[in-house]
Amino acid sequence: MSPQNTRPRVRFAPSPTGPLHIGGVRTALYNYLFARQTGGTMILRIEDTDQTRFVPGAEAYILEALKWVGIELDEGQGVGGPHEPYRQSERKAMYSQYAEQLVTAGKAYYAFDTSEQLDAMRQQLEGQGTAFQYNAITRLKLNNSLTLPQEGVTAKIAAGEPYVIRLKVPAKEEIRLNDLIRGWVHVHSSQIDDKVLMKSDGMPTYHLANVVDDHLMGITHVISGEEWLPSAPLHVLLYRYLGWESTMPRFAHLPLLLKPDGNGKLSKRDADLGGFPVFPLQWTDPETGTVARGFREEGYLSDATVNFLAFLGWNPGTEQELFSMDELIQSFSFERISKSGAKFDIQKAQWFNQQYLRQQSDEALAAYLLPALEAKGIGVTPQKAVGIARLMKDRVTFPQEMLTGTEFLFVPPAGYDPAVIPSKWTPEIALVLAAYKDELPSVENLNADTAKALLHSITERQGVKMGKVMQPLRVVLTGGTTGPDLMLSMELMGKEEVIGRLELALNRLS
Ligand code: GLU
Repeated sequence: MSPQNTRPRVRFAPSPTGPLHIGGVRTALYNYLFARQTGGTMILRIEDTDQTRFVPGAEAYILEALKWVGIELDEGQGVGGPHEPYRQSERKAMYSQYAEQLVTAGKAYYAFDTSEQLDAMRQQLEGQGTAFQYNAITRLKLNNSLTLPQEGVTAKIAAGEPYVIRLKVPAKEEIRLNDLIRGWVHVHSSQIDDKVLMKSDGMPTYHLANVVDDHLMGITHVISGEEWLPSAPLHVLLYRYLGWESTMPRFAHLPLLLKPDGNGKLSKRDADLGGFPVFPLQWTDPETGTVARGFREEGYLSDATVNFLAFLGWNPGTEQELFSMDELIQSFSFERISKSGAKFDIQKAQWFNQQYLRQQSDEALAAYLLPALEAKGIGVTPQKAVGIARLMKDRVTFPQEMLTGTEFLFVPPAGYDPAVIPSKWTPEIALVLAAYKDELPSVENLNADTAKALLHSITERQGVKMGKVMQPLRVVLTGGTTGPDLMLSMELMGKEEVIGRLELALNRLS
């Protein structure tokens, strides 16, 4: 059956070589959106065949990051499934038979070259101005089962001499693949070297393990980053030579994430320079102890992060920008993924965060605020925390900023902004505020509306414009000229506190 007629099976296949880059999260997300849209299966496979690059904690980080952004796995590492194990290092024994199958079919060969021999060949060729590649031309002069007599090969293997298995890439052949995003991609085989499939330690390389596992796991669509495009023609050859071409997955290579200015690939260095994260979660390097910022710890909400990532390379073709996960699942399509790189615009991420923060209920944000206030030694009622959330959420980008500039709610001002007081503390303002102080006790339920209504009636009565009163009132209540909504702030301070601060100001300034 052609893979296009079956329910899609997609996999996210990261290598645990460090913290998962945010671009990897985008790859996982697009796989997930496609799987959910089509009723397919989302699989996590850990590609850890390169033991030299293994980093402890990286796999746990990957799982936590996927969980944080809401990508649910149907199968794979951490959740199990019919193709266990899902860690390639634990599948080690499965791969060599396929490499041997290729050798038997004349599509791969044993190579015994030592690194000294390869270096000598490299130097010789470079001396002649040619870059060295192990390929259809050079393999004829190297130490392998194509050049050695059969008995020699058998003897070397029997003697336990280390060897690798290399793919015998044809000399002159056009390799084509139809990428879901890029259309037809043509590569001439002379541009591909005879890649190692099995290493001398008995581990497969990424190429062999990736193709074998995608086949065995019934993967129908390989959705991965553009950096894997150069490997794809080689993988097409592998599928062909292993006899699996009729069920070869479709390929979709996602656009690169570019630096904020669009010049080149986004790197960790850009993040350090720009002071923004390029990892989903904070990561502490187990060796150096260096800490890399994470979207989560910086205060990005997971749904805002998902929305931001979805738009890095894809767009819905409409004006709509805010998409929940379910809406993304419905709208996602390969046709609307661009071929060109996507600029990593952190301001856009911040904008999304603001939008999602505003959509959160005051109660949900209060649940965040309560422990944060407690940590600062400020005890408030849950009701007051809800009020603070309501007061602040439209003014901030990150939840932790909701407490910035709110000290005035808990502590009376030590002094007043000299740009306003005394110059704007005129006798008429003093009279209005004195009346306000005197009449506030009669307001039964002080809230933003009643506070405003009373002030309004006093200014009318005394013939003073509201606009002239607001700034001095803010300064005597808070100390400064800027801040969140004043009436709402008074509601949160409470009637007694407001009266007390007005009294203090009238005493200090008269
Ligand atoms: N294992 C590769 C990585 O580390 C992914 C390969 C693929 O998706 O085909 O990202």
